[in-house]
Amino acid sequence: MRLRNIPGAREEMVASPYVYTEPQEHRGHWREEFGNRAPLYIEVGMGKGQFIQTLARLHPDIDYIGIEKYSSVLLRGVQKQEEEQLPNLRFIRMDAEQIEEVFAPGEVDRIYLNFSDPWPKDRHAKRRLTSTTFLGRFAAVGREHVRIEFKTDNMGLFDFSVESAAEAGWKILAVTRDLHADPVLAEGNVMTEYEEKFSSRGNPIGKLIIEAPDRKGAPQ
Ligand code: SAM
Repeated sequence: MRLRNIPGAREEMVASPYVYTEPQEHRGHWREEFGNRAPLYIEVGMGKGQFIQTLARLHPDIDYIGIEKYSSVLLRGVQKQEEEQLPNLRFIRMDAEQIEEVFAPGEVDRIYLNFSDPWPKDRHAKRRLTSTTFLGRFAAVGREHVRIEFKTDNMGLFDFSVESAAEAGWKILAVTRDLHADPVLAEGNVMTEYEEKFSSRGNPIGKLIIEAPDRKGAPQ
């Protein structure tokens, strides 16, 4: 994601009713924020938010939180939401490394990761959102058997993610290295900004759906 420092981005976000600037204060109470009515799905690294905003529009019976590290990127999603005012969509500006400080164990019903940063150097592998380190964090905040849906055109990252999921004991529910040619998985697919950009260049898109292992010590 190209980053430009947008003057006033942070201030605009603080003023928005759709952005949580102190998300830790809501740990364990996210459902109440939406009136305790629906499952909670999150997207980590939402960029400008096209994907999560489309999902929120299509599924008013599900609550969505988009997470993004940079104010200047998140701002675009916030501005679109200020126009559309979907009641089931909010945002958090944070680094996903802190996800366990923001969500209590079991609080999240589904996690989307789209075109996550590849961190190609081996020494940065733990920063990849599909590393075993991050999968552990996501399993902790997810409900029992939480599902992650992951898309990328970066086949190095895709292969790494399949291996990492297996290593961490996640069950692979679906895997394709050419989503748009897969009649089952392509049905109802909602494109992200990066997906539109890279598929228009002819890059195949990979999709992986995984389910968290049983919690340690939990009755089977
Ligand atoms: N998901 C969008 C899409 O598919 O169009 C954006 C993809 S962009 C390549 C990756 C986004 O993830 C960037 O906006 C980046 O700032 C964000 N990101 C990367 N690492 C993150 C982290 N640890 N926590 C939160 N956001 C992160």
